[in-house]
Amino acid sequence: SVVALDAAQPFDYESRRMEQMHKESKLKVGIVGFGNFGQFLAQRIVKQGHAVLAHSRSDYSSLCDEMGVLFFRDVDDFCEEHPDVVLLSTSILSTEAVLRSLPLQRLKRSTLFVDVLSVKEFPKTLFQQVLPAEFDILCTHPMFGPESGRGSWNSLPLVYDKVRVGSGVRDERCQRFLEIFEREGCRMVEMSCAEHDRFAASSQFITHTVGRMLGKLELESTPINTKGYETLLDLVQNTQGDSFDLYYGLFMYNINATEELERLELAFDALKKQLFGKLHNVLRKQLFDVGSAATNH
Ligand code: NAP
Repeated sequence: SVVALDAAQPFDYESRRMEQMHKESKLKVGIVGFGNFGQFLAQRIVKQGHAVLAHSRSDYSSLCDEMGVLFFRDVDDFCEEHPDVVLLSTSILSTEAVLRSLPLQRLKRSTLFVDVLSVKEFPKTLFQQVLPAEFDILCTHPMFGPESGRGSWNSLPLVYDKVRVGSGVRDERCQRFLEIFEREGCRMVEMSCAEHDRFAASSQFITHTVGRMLGKLELESTPINTKGYETLLDLVQNTQGDSFDLYYGLFMYNINATEELERLELAFDALKKQLFGKLHNVLRKQLFDVGSAATNH
């Protein structure tokens, strides 16, 4: 028979403990830089039940109201909310100025700082230089954006480097943050920032450069599009949605980008040489044959 003790009352130790555990598994994530990508990330973080606050140069108050995010115009107020995680999603170019302008002394001593910049060595060094030794540092790069991750993040790569993460509860907190991406089905790739930048220059920077070059051609859809051509149109669409600041950041703040740009130029020249070389050979052969035919006559 059911006795009063069996009823799951909210004041029961067990249910209170459950509620506490639920609360503990949720993070307070403070996003700095609430532009295109910051908003894109916030949407999923809110959906997973974490508390999200934001601060940005522009006023996003009404958008934040709609999204269930608490917006702070004043950066002091933002920091005094003591987020567990401060997630930097500013443009690569403005990151240093934004970071140096944060009143770090108002944050919890154990704050976890995370960045999502598309280059990794630069924020790693910057964080190590600017942040107090008690702060944890996690450098991440979600290798997708509002276009490519529009529907689902399933199988999309999330690169991360635990640059400075303490043990125990600090590591657990870092893990809980990474779980946000794991739960969305991301492919979690742990990799050093230097390694990321080497790979990204020859993949992401090339992709953006080719996309932007094709964008300048103003390609249009035709009634006879091949699959390959459709892919190119998609590439243009994918890369042009990003700001030029972002693209410039990929170039300026990745030490390997200049070399990749040069390799791209050399490859184009080599291809042209191959084409024209073949053409010249055909022409010469014709000239020579005609010449020898005339001599024989
Ligand atoms: P973005 O143009 O790189 O950055 C826009 C953000 O930077 C906005 O929040 C903007 O603030 C802020 N910002 C720009 N100049 C500033 C300045 N002088 N002072 C203060 N804040 C400034 O575009 P994004 O796509 O949103 O990218 C944000 C970050 O995410 C970048 O570091 C990027 O590399 C990274 N990321 C982007 C993608 C993507 O697909 N878009 C993917 C992975 C990683 P306001 O909006 O308040 O003006």
